[in-house]
This record gives sequence, C-alpha cells and structure tokens, in this order.
Amino acid sequence: MSRVWRAREKLLWVVALASAYAALSFLWSTMGFASPVAPVHFGEYSSAQIVTEIGGHVLFGVAAALPTMDGWLVLLAGGESVLIDADHILAALGYPVAGRLAHSVFFALAAAALLGYLSYRARMGGKGVFFVTLSAVAAHFSYDVFAGNGVFYILSPLSLAAYAFSYPTWPVFMAAAVGLNVVPKVWHLRVNSRNN
Ligand SMILES: [Zn+2]
Repeated sequence: MSRVWRAREKLLWVVALASAYAALSFLWSTMGFASPVAPVHFGEYSSAQIVTEIGGHVLFGVAAALPTMDGWLVLLAGGESVLIDADHILAALGYPVAGRLAHSVFFALAAAALLGYLSYRARMGGKGVFFVTLSAVAAHFSYDVFAGNGVFYILSPLSLAAYAFSYPTWPVFMAAAVGLNVVPKVWHLRVNSRNN
C-alpha cells in the first residue's frame, strides 16, 4: 500500500472515530431527558469566547497526547478534546437537560472502549486509541477547570449530581491525561524487553 494511500486511510479513520465520539457524547446527553432539569447552559461557546475555548481544549488535548509520539493519535486527541462538548447541544437549544452530562468517567470508559474496540477490529491500533481517548477526556476536564468552570456530572448516568472541582485540580487532571498516554508506552517497552 502506498504511503499516500495509507495516510488517507488513517485520516479518514481518525475523522470516523472523532465523529463516533461526538455522536456518543450527544447520545449520552439524551439520558438527561430521564431526569429533566431547567436547562443548564454553560455559555462557553459564546462568540466572544469561542476561539479561546476551542483553542484551549485542542492545546491541552494535543499536549497530553504528545507522549504517544504518534501524529494520528495526537490529531484524534485534539478532536476529541473539543467534541466531548457535543453534550452541550440539547441544553443550548433549551431542552430540559443538564449540559455536560458526558463529562463523566463512565462516558470516558464507554467511549474509549468503543473506539478502542473498533480500531482493534480495523487493525488501526486499539490500545493507543483506548488510552488516548481516556486521556482526551481528562485533558478536557483539566482545561474546563483551568478556564474557570469545573462543574461536572462525573458519575452520569448513575448519578446526575453535579460535582464542582476547584481550580488547583487542573494540573491533577492534566497529569492524569499525560500519564494515561505513558501507560501503553511503558507496557510496550516491558513486553519488548521480556521478548529480547
Ligand atoms: Zn467541557
């Protein structure tokens, strides 16, 4: 397979994964209809803030993915870092649903498992996709806290309670995000050294 063809295939795969991730985040937010609330709209994407909001999320996601040393995973992380906010759409449209319902550890696990499994089946590197997806969620939390709003429905859908994380927790989330991408690297090194 030529390199150009391979790159095209990889790019399409990253776009497909990012789209599935955004769709899952949106679907996750529909669970909010089971427990209607007055719409909680965070207003993060107001026209004045949109560039910093998107830029900040991409920057944190990309930075956390650098240990993968894989440009495609970095690209995926950059996309995922922003697209989790598809869970704001219903609240922003005025539906009685809390925004940020996908800002949850269970969403992170479900999305990572789904995208990792699809990539494994497609021979596109399941392990790296699994960890980078978990990492992108942690990096997203980090920037949300950093930018001043660390209120997350972290246990949704098991509990629709909102938990507030204070400003000093942003480096903790970021360290977790970086660490998650170091895990598969160390794993790989250990397996290799055992086989040599
Ligand atoms: Zn967010």
